[in-house]
Amino acid sequence: MISGKLYIISAPSGAGKTSLVKQLIAEMDDLAVSVSHTTRAMRSGEQDGVDYFFVSVETFKAMIERQAFLEHAQVFDNFYGTAQQTVEDNLAKGLDVILEIDWQGAQQVRRMLPESLSIFILPPSIEVLSQRLQNRGQDNPEVIARRMRDAVTEMSHYPEYDYLIVNDDFSLALQQLKSIVTANRLTQNQQQKTLAALLQDLLN
Ligand code: 5GP
Repeated sequence: MISGKLYIISAPSGAGKTSLVKQLIAEMDDLAVSVSHTTRAMRSGEQDGVDYFFVSVETFKAMIERQAFLEHAQVFDNFYGTAQQTVEDNLAKGLDVILEIDWQGAQQVRRMLPESLSIFILPPSIEVLSQRLQNRGQDNPEVIARRMRDAVTEMSHYPEYDYLIVNDDFSLALQQLKSIVTANRLTQNQQQKTLAALLQDLLN
């Protein structure tokens, strides 16, 4: 039985989504982030199995064939996907699970799991977004220009999300993310599961 909550978090590249999610996981209990599979090359500082499972196109396609993905999409020039089994295992354990995925993946997950909640993280301005993409220094200028265009496409999907957060002040954005998770843990639906023993005791 699925008892944890599934959160989809999307953002344009450069909005600070990954740092926010890392800190959120560090500061909140019972929250897991799903490690995606990707065919893109590993960037310096990244670790296989931590940031992503880095796989070949052949492996990725074989996973699609055997329906191992909850969702998958082509983003920029690479494939990205969320393995179904780990997400289900974590939800069954009662953990809330975060999927850091793009708008295409978000649409697929919403269709399959309509009870999931989605959050879109926006940069404070187009100038700040452009600056953040240039400061990364990991990609060449054409890639940055293309990512800027892709960022606008990604952002155009903001109306599809349940929550919008602007990441201007990091600690405020983090606080807002935590509030969303906390508030959803207090709903009637969730509390009936979390407090099952207490509720039974109180009414006996
Ligand atoms: P990056 O290559 O910069 O880590 O990520 C590029 C984009 O791929 C981001 O928008 C990120 O949200 C998206 N992405 C990462 N993992 C997944 C995934 O498993 N599924 C989908 N659909 N998108 C993903």
